[in-house]
Amino acid sequence: MNPVYLDYNATTPVDPRVLSVMLPYFSEKFGNASSGTHSYGWLAKAAVDKAREQVAQLIGSDGSEVYFNSGSTEGINFVLKGIFNAYQTKGNHFITFADEHKAVGDTFEYLRKRGAEVTVIPINNKGQINLNDIEQAINSKTVLLSCMYANNETGVIHPVQEIAEICKKSNVIFFSDATQAAGKINIDVKTGPDALTISGHKVYGPKGAGAVFLRRRNPRVMPEALIHGGGHEKALRSGTLNVPAIVGLGQACELARIERESDVERILILRNKLEDFIKQEFKGIVNGDNSPRLSNTLNIMLPGIASEKLLSSLKDVAFSIGSACTSAVPEPSHVLSAMGLSKEQSYSSVRFSLGRFTTEQEIESVISSLKRFKEKS
Ligand code: PLP
Repeated sequence: MNPVYLDYNATTPVDPRVLSVMLPYFSEKFGNASSGTHSYGWLAKAAVDKAREQVAQLIGSDGSEVYFNSGSTEGINFVLKGIFNAYQTKGNHFITFADEHKAVGDTFEYLRKRGAEVTVIPINNKGQINLNDIEQAINSKTVLLSCMYANNETGVIHPVQEIAEICKKSNVIFFSDATQAAGKINIDVKTGPDALTISGHKVYGPKGAGAVFLRRRNPRVMPEALIHGGGHEKALRSGTLNVPAIVGLGQACELARIERESDVERILILRNKLEDFIKQEFKGIVNGDNSPRLSNTLNIMLPGIASEKLLSSLKDVAFSIGSACTSAVPEPSHVLSAMGLSKEQSYSSVRFSLGRFTTEQEIESVISSLKRFKEKS
């Protein structure tokens, strides 16, 4: 039997309803969306146009403000590097936060070497940001502020609307990595960020597909292109469009828009059941407790228990731990460290993230596994 999948923040399975609309675009509807001389191309273009509208509807934008790409890492690189390159005359100062995803953090590290000045604002022990810090960090050379909608590790949701107001008042572009927020909380760019990224594989769409929103006016956000070529996506992202993936992303966004509220309600009950059990049986302490959090995410510290040990014992559950295993010696999570957790506390933290296909039975079975673990240890 496959392990119970509780790692939806890492990636989601493609919803069968998404897959079924994608499939014809691999076979009989295989046209190139740029082929303007025949019906194969027209069909593909119509499908891409529809997907653009579906994405736009999820985030409250206009279809003309949506640009397709390969996912959030690309979207983040495009916006941050593209704005740095295009807005040099305005300034070179950027603002970001300590809990941003590596795709943002590493891109800013690169830009620093290219002459950008980057202010990294800390987060508090609840994973929250302080709006006063933003007001203080902005100066006459500030071009852009980057703040994720919701954190991928803790699920903590940031006050995007309030940040947008501050940025607007100060004439600073507000970019938000909405990779984890999309499909989980309401996103409305009308009162939110001027630019944002989403990713197909976090919303039950395919991997390798994503979209960037760029506000068209007030302010008009115009990064320089990262990839040059045939002038696709209004010359901001050249390369033949991945039509099946784009169709899938569009359908995934439509389902997310229609089903978000009922999904969230159902998932929250299951998440809370697991959370209550771990709090009670393991004296678990939720990282980001008392903050607004995504309903599907549970990042919890189990005092005195090494997460690596839990991981190797709970073979029938797929979940994440509070350290990155990219090196020989696991590094504590930069998000948990920024929240003030010690190395030991990070090493005792685990992340369960639930999703559309999580069942009550699965949560029961995870609870049983945890009970067995407790009895043995
Ligand atoms: N930003 C956040 C918050 C994420 O969780 C992820 C993926 O884990 C990314 C960006 C990168 O997205 P992608 O896998 O589409 O490149």
